[in-house]
Amino acid sequence: MIIATTIAEVRQQVQQWKQAGLSVGLVPTMGYLHAGHASLVDRAVTLCDRVVVSDFVNPTQFGPNEDLAAYPCDFEGDCALLDAHGCDMVFHPSVSEMYPDGNGKTDTYVTMVDDMPRQLCGKTRPIHFRGVCTVVAKLFNIVTPDKAFFGEKDAQQLAIIRRMVRDLSYGVEIVGCPIVREADGLAMSSRNTYLTAPERQAALILSQTVVLGKERVAAGEKDADRLVAQMKANIASEPLAEIDYVAAVDGVTMQSVHTLTKGTLVAMAVRFGKARLLDNFTVEE
Ligand code: AMP
Repeated sequence: MIIATTIAEVRQQVQQWKQAGLSVGLVPTMGYLHAGHASLVDRAVTLCDRVVVSDFVNPTQFGPNEDLAAYPCDFEGDCALLDAHGCDMVFHPSVSEMYPDGNGKTDTYVTMVDDMPRQLCGKTRPIHFRGVCTVVAKLFNIVTPDKAFFGEKDAQQLAIIRRMVRDLSYGVEIVGCPIVREADGLAMSSRNTYLTAPERQAALILSQTVVLGKERVAAGEKDADRLVAQMKANIASEPLAEIDYVAAVDGVTMQSVHTLTKGTLVAMAVRFGKARLLDNFTVEE
């Protein structure tokens, strides 16, 4: 596996692959990799001839009071996982390689005029998706992948990236990949490492609430407000859980809906101590 730290190295290698007629897949990550990330790499390996994984904690997607400085990292562990899953190149740039002005500063951002990035997570993280779109656009320009792989755990991110690709005519196919969970149901996340033992136990309320929501929908619930109220009440039964949001939205536009139909995204963000965790499901019928 090639370890690249500069944009020039990545460009040179990708050019060689493309000249040889090989397709290229990109998996953007912030490192501290787990089986959820590995599932994206596995999918990329099956669909592409060569797979590039970016491993970069992107400063522009963190607000001033967020966990940028505390964000966990283990680059050696990441390389071992990526090598074992058949990644061909890991791109691990410095902040100044990605943002030459230093300190994660840039004069040019990709921002969306639609209010998609201001819904759900955007309500408490107002600059988050501007940073995500900017870094993903940069990665697309650097790697020029045929396909790029994103997890459904970050459903709003996936929807926004799909919209950005459409609006800016990136010739990249976006592949969404299902949520990978721990054996007890907790959605895998690099931020799970912030949880104390009691918080880790309490965080099970998230996946349990997803199960509850799916059961209510399977039983015929169509009223989004009632479903959200039931899910909120369930989460509130856990004293260590602090709800950021529970919402039912259109899975493409992220606009609130009142009726649950196929494609409705039911998403939540809940804090447990220092960790803010996400979970969601999409209504299937
Ligand atoms: P991150 O390193 O948290 O920025 O995540 C990198 C990519 O991995 C994103 O597309 C995430 O949605 C995806 N991802 C993270 N956790 C999971 C998971 N538990 N299951 C599936 N995909 C995930």
